Amino acid sequence: MKVFIPKSLQEAVSFLKENQNFIPFAGGTDLMPLLAKGVLSKKNSFIDLNNLTEELSFINLQEDGNLWIGSLATIRKLCENHIIAEHFPLIAASAINIGSVQIRNLATIGGNIANASPAADLIPALLVHDSSLILTSDKKTRQIDLKDYYVSYKRTSRKPYELITGIIVKPLEQGRILFRKIGNRKNLSLSKIVVSSYIAKEFETKDPCRFAAGSVKEIPARLFNLEESVINRRISESELRNALLRDISPINDVRSTCIYRTEVLLRVIRKFIEWK
Ligand SMILES: Cc1cc2nc3c(=O)[nH]c(=O)nc-3n(C[C@H](O)[C@H](O)[C@H](O)COP(=O)(O)OP(=O)(O)OC[C@H]3O[C@@H](n4cnc5c(N)ncnc54)[C@H](O)[C@@H]3O)c2cc1C
Repeated sequence: MKVFIPKSLQEAVSFLKENQNFIPFAGGTDLMPLLAKGVLSKKNSFIDLNNLTEELSFINLQEDGNLWIGSLATIRKLCENHIIAEHFPLIAASAINIGSVQIRNLATIGGNIANASPAADLIPALLVHDSSLILTSDKKTRQIDLKDYYVSYKRTSRKPYELITGIIVKPLEQGRILFRKIGNRKNLSLSKIVVSSYIAKEFETKDPCRFAAGSVKEIPARLFNLEESVINRRISESELRNALLRDISPINDVRSTCIYRTEVLLRVIRKFIEWK
């Protein structure tokens, strides 16, 4: 197995430019199980990002209210950060529900995003926050909205020579938020569904509500049709159902069924909308 261990971000992206078959390795909590299962093997080559932790694990609140998070910030760091706890509670709630202590110590926010699992717990919250990603390559840095990053099941618009280096999380106006993860157990379970939502206190604003969910289609989903329905006050059971069915296409798998996922998601969202 070939492993390259760069000492800096510049060294990493220069190397990736010439060696695009090398797979970025951060906390390894998604990659190690793939090695154990034989999906990946000694034939694969890795670029270990762990020497870049100092460079890429910042959590900074900007003057405009946006939060900049380095891609190598661990989930534990998100859980322990007081700015996130105070100003971005949806992110805090999502992070604390990931894995176990051991997993949160290693797992990174960049890995959660890049792995592109439709069940990833952080992504719906980041979608509700209208987040964007910073992708860095040898000579270029580009920014892409997270909602446009996922192309199809486990496929993203990241080029093999790019690294996710940062995440820009926009603040929400005052309002109500909801994080709900439904799995088999309270801890260490993959989501049957995961939901993040926000409704502004002043509903007459330009952007009064946002909904996003995981494990309800092939990619993490912002529920735009549902949002439109709520904005236009079409919130009867059938109106919400029709809107939601245009946003999602859940499947039957080992964790749950298509019907369960649809009905539970609808119920969670209805309760949140109707809550006074
Ligand atoms: C027991 C267990 C429980 C888990 N529980 C949960 C859970 O409850 N919720 C949840 O959402 N996830 C869970 N996970 C999945 C995993 O822990 C997370 O997705 C984690 O955030 C992945 O981060 P990592 O740093 O370990 O990624 P890695 O395994 O290092 O990488 C994951 C993917 O991202 C790519 N990558 C990593 N960093 C970058 C980067 N900076 N730029 C470009 N590509 C990059 C890698 O090439 C790889 O494809 C669990 C995993 C395990 C083993």
